[in-house]
Amino acid sequence: MNSPRRITYVASENLAKTCSLLPSNRNRSTFVHALVTAFGLLRPPSNGAPYVVTLLRPPPASPSDLTAYHDRSYVDALLADPPGPDSASCREFGLEDDCPPFPGLREYALGVAGASMVAAQELAGDRCDIAICWDGGRHHAHKSLASGFCYVNDCVLALLVLKRASPVPPLLSNQGNIRKKSRVMYLDLDVHYGDGVAAAFRGAGARGQVLTLSIHNAGQGLFPASEHSALPNISSAAFDPFALSLPLHTGASCATFARVWRTVGRVLEIFAPDYIVMQCGVDGLAQDPVGAWNWTLGGEGGLAWFVRRVFDFSAKVLLLGGGGYSLVNAARAWALLTSVACGVPLALDTPIPHHAGFPMYAPSFTLDVPPSRMCDENTDDYLKKVDATFERVAEILRTQLALHSSDSV
Ligand SMILES: [Zn+2]
Repeated sequence: MNSPRRITYVASENLAKTCSLLPSNRNRSTFVHALVTAFGLLRPPSNGAPYVVTLLRPPPASPSDLTAYHDRSYVDALLADPPGPDSASCREFGLEDDCPPFPGLREYALGVAGASMVAAQELAGDRCDIAICWDGGRHHAHKSLASGFCYVNDCVLALLVLKRASPVPPLLSNQGNIRKKSRVMYLDLDVHYGDGVAAAFRGAGARGQVLTLSIHNAGQGLFPASEHSALPNISSAAFDPFALSLPLHTGASCATFARVWRTVGRVLEIFAPDYIVMQCGVDGLAQDPVGAWNWTLGGEGGLAWFVRRVFDFSAKVLLLGGGGYSLVNAARAWALLTSVACGVPLALDTPIPHHAGFPMYAPSFTLDVPPSRMCDENTDDYLKKVDATFERVAEILRTQLALHSSDSV
């Protein structure tokens, strides 16, 4: 009999309280953890269950933990007490507009960073197989710049922890040599391009060890504007097979994601990561106020289906949150993904259990997030182009990895 999958769920009342202050996602954290708890997913499972779950109350990061990625001057401005340094510094560090200083910002930034870092440390220490931190996933923050509702890039901080970790289990490379360094893959499902994470590792000496792949909406005018968010152009001097971008058009539905999986699966197979950090932003779901995609939770190509396919690979996985501006649909999605991680997926017609947030789940009072009538603009021709592009990317990736694995022994 297989031993039960070990799940670490990172959350605490204090963290939920400070995350609930985030101006872009007020109260969302409280709703998410309340629904996961109401479904009984954090209770010790019965004997013979396919999983064991540990609730880990994360300590906050220290200011110097943040400097593993962020610049010291930015960290000082971010953690200023009272919140908000002088107005010139606010402008310099992006602490304005969609990232204003707010009461509780210091506790929030340290709390989110600490949560994702401790989740990564649990994986690195082989104390779990899957770690879940729905309060994390702030993929737009840069080294010295708050951006897109993101103040601290906990995704990067977690990736750096895993980059230093041992490979698990020790794998054999194509040449028959023991892999010396872990390989870490970042997979971003948020409707917005994961610019902050890609920027952290592009050309940063991590070649062959960290690969980022962002699937996002390609629509005109959608945040963030970036020259790197288009389909890879392998003839460009700037092409990096370890910083990949897979843009989709408006209305992307389950049918499109089922097609896109072939590309993601191919990259996963070739890169064969020891660890996968997955940013599960849910602002691409139908009905989200962003209104760009028409993705849903269930069925072939659905969010749960997609995440389950990732679990099929023999890698340890860190699930992070991200965008998601319907707080009840974010709670629905992440409760469902928690059950999928545990190997006991909830059915989509499962009634929402009675708990404090219950009235907000009207009118359906079920787990499902049904599709809207939005048209999927990802044509067969476009998806064939994606496939063909990534076939060439895959060849280059294979060649580069062969070079790097011979370097590392
Ligand atoms: Zn987003």
